[in-house]
Amino acid sequence: MFNLILFGPPGSGKGTQSEKLIEKFGWIHLSTGDLLRKEIANKTQLGLEAKAFMDKGQLVPDEVVIGMIGAALDANPAARGFLFDGFPRTTAQAEALDALLSSKTSEITLVLALEVSEEELVARLLNRGKTSSRSDDRDENVIRKRLLEYEEKTAAVAHHYAKFDKVAKVKGEGSIEEIFQLLRKQIEARQPA
Ligand code: AMP
Repeated sequence: MFNLILFGPPGSGKGTQSEKLIEKFGWIHLSTGDLLRKEIANKTQLGLEAKAFMDKGQLVPDEVVIGMIGAALDANPAARGFLFDGFPRTTAQAEALDALLSSKTSEITLVLALEVSEEELVARLLNRGKTSSRSDDRDENVIRKRLLEYEEKTAAVAHHYAKFDKVAKVKGEGSIEEIFQLLRKQIEARQPA
């Protein structure tokens, strides 16, 4: 199994690149942001509770997203690999993910960290807000809060995996295709052809 974490701040292109990567490599795409937005659209209790955090640009509680990922792993026993997008976002989530995978005699293979400057991130997110249905992309204060949450809580996830020598940094500025090729090279260097 190849288990990839596509890592990076909000607006770094994780969603866009995830779509291209799953098409190429055939993994299961697990985006906690997408899963949460689905819960909100279905007006579930979980969605209702999560929305209050998301609208403020705050992370939803660890146990909520860990539970969703655990269920998704169980629901896909025959997967050839998983692409984690927007998860893990805290060290506690990373440790829980490691434990979940280890209980399935698997592990994270690689963390690809997209690097994009802060001003470029804000510009991209505001631009996305003009066309997407995401209210958290329309308000610059909420965007800044999400970037702060990333610095304060999520950046540590890269340190966690760097301890195991699993992190590769990739320049996340350039054309979608250029960035995709950089990601592809890193992946192919770590998996048998
Ligand atoms: P995203 O679509 O990944 O940008 O996530 C949108 C929002 O969903 C975030 O700002 C958080 O409020 C919430 N969220 C998504 N994934 C997580 C996660 N792994 N941990 C906590 N909150 C999350």
